[in-house]
Amino acid sequence: MIQRRPTRQVTLGDEQHGIVKIGGGAHGTQPAPVSIQTMTAGYTYEIDTCVAEINRMAAAGADLVRVAVPMKKDTEALKQIIPQVRVPIVADVHFHFQRALEAIEAGVHKIRLNPGNISDKKQVAEVIDACKEKKLPIRIGVNEGSIIERKDKQKRMKELGGVFSNDKHGHFLAIMIAKLEEYLEIFYERDFYDIVISAKSPDPTLVVAAYTEISKRFDHPLHLGVTHAGPKETGTIRSVVPLGHLLASGIGDTVRISYANDPVYEVEDGLEMLYCLELRERKGVDLIACPTCGRIQVDLFTLVQEVRETLKAEIELPIKVAVMGCIVNGPGEAEGADVAIFAGDRRGIIYVQGQKVANVPEEEILAALLAECKKFEAKVKAG
Ligand code: SF4
Repeated sequence: MIQRRPTRQVTLGDEQHGIVKIGGGAHGTQPAPVSIQTMTAGYTYEIDTCVAEINRMAAAGADLVRVAVPMKKDTEALKQIIPQVRVPIVADVHFHFQRALEAIEAGVHKIRLNPGNISDKKQVAEVIDACKEKKLPIRIGVNEGSIIERKDKQKRMKELGGVFSNDKHGHFLAIMIAKLEEYLEIFYERDFYDIVISAKSPDPTLVVAAYTEISKRFDHPLHLGVTHAGPKETGTIRSVVPLGHLLASGIGDTVRISYANDPVYEVEDGLEMLYCLELRERKGVDLIACPTCGRIQVDLFTLVQEVRETLKAEIELPIKVAVMGCIVNGPGEAEGADVAIFAGDRRGIIYVQGQKVANVPEEEILAALLAECKKFEAKVKAG
C-alpha cells in the first residue's frame, strides 16, 4: 500500500458536474483518490465539437477536463458548454488575466494560471479574489518552458546559491522554487489556499526532481504531468516512468498524461497507471495476456485486441481475465485469473476460477469467453 504524502485538500465541481476532491490528509482532511484529468484538443469556441469531446473524455473516465480559452469567444462559448457536460471544467489561462475572469463568470470549476505569463500582482490578485468569491481552486502551473527567464537566471542562482547544484536540474529548480515562492506570496497575502501546483517538463528526470523538491517545501496538492510527451508510442514510457515513480513514492494527487494523439488515450493510460499502483479501484476488466512464443497455434494478438474491446464494452466489474497462448505453461501463468482462455490447436479451452468449463473452436473463442465473463459477473453481482 502506497503511503501518500499528506497535503491540503481542494474541492471543485457541483451537483451536475460531480464533486472532485484533490489531495488531502492534512488539516483534518481525508486523502481523496488520485484523480485523472485531460485537456480538449479542439477549439473551445466550436461548441458542439467541444461538448462532444468533453463527453467522450468523461465516458472514458476523466474526473475533470481542461479547456484552452485564448480568446473571448472561447470564454463566451463556456457559457453554453458547461451546462451540456457532466464533468468539472478547468479553464487554462495564459497571458490574458481577463480570460480567467470571464471563465469564472461563465461558470468554470477551476482556473489554471501560468506565473510565466500572468505575473502582474494586481491582475493575479483580481483573479484570486474572483475565485475566492466563487470558492474555486487555482492551479499554479510552473512549466519549464514558460518560467525560464534567461535574464533572471544568474541572479536567481546567486540568490539561492548553494541550495541547488549548478547543473540543468539545479538551474530549473532554483528558478522554479523562487518563482513559486513569489507567486504563492500573492495568494497567501489574500488568505487564499485552494491551490494546486504543477511543475511540468518534457524531461522525465527533471519532472521527478521538480516534484520531489516541491513536495518537500509546500503542502499544496500536486498535479503531475510530463508536458509535450510526444506520440503515444513513446510518450507512454516518457510519462509513466517518472509519474509512476513519483506516485509510488506517495507524491501526486491528480495526473494528466499528455500525448500528441486522441486525449481519450491519456485518460485510459492514466487510469491504468493508477490501477497498477492500486491508487484507484479498478473499473472494468483487468486483462492479462501472454506475449506468445514458439508454442502458439492461434492468432493471439488479434484475439487479445478483440477480447479487450469486447470486454471493455460489456463488463463493468473488475474481473481478472487471462488470454494465454497454450495450455503448456498457460495455467501456471494465468493463476489467479477469474476467467482464462488457453488457446491451442485452433481451439480454446476456457477455465473459470481454475475449473474447465468449455472447449470451443478458434472462431467461437471470443463469444464463449464473453459468455463466461458475463455469467461470472452476474454471479459476483448476485453475491
Ligand atoms: Fe508461450 Fe504458452 Fe507461455 Fe504463451 S502461454 S508465452 S504460448 S508458453
